[in-house]
Amino acid sequence: MVIVGAGFGGLAAAQGLAGAQVRITIIDQRNHHLFQPLLYQVGTASLAPSEIAWPIRHLVRKRKEVTTLLGVVTAVDTQNRTVSFEDGGTVKYDTLVLATGARHAYFGHDEWEPYAPGLKTLEDATTIRRRVLLSFERAECETDPARRAALLTFVIVGGGPTGVELSGAIAELAHQNLPEEYRHIDTRKARVVLIEAGPRILPSFTEDLSAYAHVSLERLGVEIQLGQAVRECSDQGVIYGDQPLAAKVILWAAGVRASAAAAWAGLPADNAGRARVEPDLTAPGHPEIFVIGDTATINAWHGKPVPGIAPAAKQQGTHVARTIRMRLHGNTAQRLFRYRHSGNLATIGKRAAVIDFGWIKVRGWLAWWLWGLAHIYFLIGVRNRLAVALSWLWIYATGSRSAHLITQGEQRPRPG
Ligand SMILES: Cc1cc2nc3c(=O)[nH]c(=O)nc-3n(C[C@H](O)[C@H](O)[C@H](O)COP(=O)(O)OP(=O)(O)OC[C@H]3O[C@@H](n4cnc5c(N)ncnc54)[C@H](O)[C@@H]3O)c2cc1C
Repeated sequence: MVIVGAGFGGLAAAQGLAGAQVRITIIDQRNHHLFQPLLYQVGTASLAPSEIAWPIRHLVRKRKEVTTLLGVVTAVDTQNRTVSFEDGGTVKYDTLVLATGARHAYFGHDEWEPYAPGLKTLEDATTIRRRVLLSFERAECETDPARRAALLTFVIVGGGPTGVELSGAIAELAHQNLPEEYRHIDTRKARVVLIEAGPRILPSFTEDLSAYAHVSLERLGVEIQLGQAVRECSDQGVIYGDQPLAAKVILWAAGVRASAAAAWAGLPADNAGRARVEPDLTAPGHPEIFVIGDTATINAWHGKPVPGIAPAAKQQGTHVARTIRMRLHGNTAQRLFRYRHSGNLATIGKRAAVIDFGWIKVRGWLAWWLWGLAHIYFLIGVRNRLAVALSWLWIYATGSRSAHLITQGEQRPRPG
């Protein structure tokens, strides 16, 4: 059996098969499993990359039946049942799980990416951290007021959970954590502008939670612009609606595009490139291929599409593992996947959050603590849980962030 992608879905499938008589090959283009929900904290200098990522090889080290391969998959030959790598190599499968996730999308404007990086990988997060911190550094040396203002303007495009979390964290960094470290600029004057094309932020939450998040973000000093789509991104800033806004840091948190897994295997897909799967998560006409997580679409949430979130990918991975176990016992009946939604969560800075469990809604500091506990619980390994809990407590108590480091060369156009 081959699993492509060791994110939440792929890893859950491998974990669900522990102890079964199955030889598994896990292929990923990166050597680590990444806890994406906390990526924005690496991007905004609260956590270090090693606190939210784990080498895949290490995670499965005790599973002798599991082989881990580092490689970029570019094709699937469904006739000969092989998976091909970028460098030309191939691996055979009898059962295949495609769990290769999604990336941000620029609505047909991929040329904006160098100016407005999205947040999906550790490299994205350290690029964002570098740009944000570098912009303050350059502003400190800048004497021209207009250029200085542009260096101190941070634009976040997209008012979903990632945009809300990024803008809240940058506002806190600028307005609360950095002021005493600079001599020539007042970082409290930095502008953090969140631009959302829709009528409200956090559209997947109820209106009252979204209104609460709106007011809380404004209290942190975030300017929210609603109902205006970004029409242009460049090294000068953005144009949204008809307004130009000079900004040297633009962050992209809008739009999602599935990995190319559907195209590799010639499967039907929706507009975002997600493979349309059967009710049991198999590819149409291919009971030996499962497609799960962000790279698949299925109406298995009371007839609605399953959301692109980590618990959904995990549930699908577990479902696939159970199906394979039953097949091993000769039971090939179709097992329908049903998604169980446990809630929507988003943080607003380090003192408030909104949580919609469906049956109850929580907001404010209690929601923040619940959010924090849930994320610590879902991290892998005691050491990481302790490290993240300690980092948060330290930031909470002192306001000082440990990960203020500018590292990594800039391959994309630089601010300034
Ligand atoms: C910034 C951010 C914040 C988020 N916050 C939350 C949150 O708070 N709560 C929540 O529930 N969800 C959150 N999500 C969504 C959640 O992370 C995804 O829904 C989840 O990761 C999907 O799991 P997956 O297994 O489908 O894909 P992923 O976890 O993305 O894993 C895909 C894996 O496939 C690998 N891969 C991709 N292409 C190839 C290839 N060609 N060859 C080999 N390997 C490949 C990747 O390297 C990766 O390891 C967030 C996502 C992001 C980006």
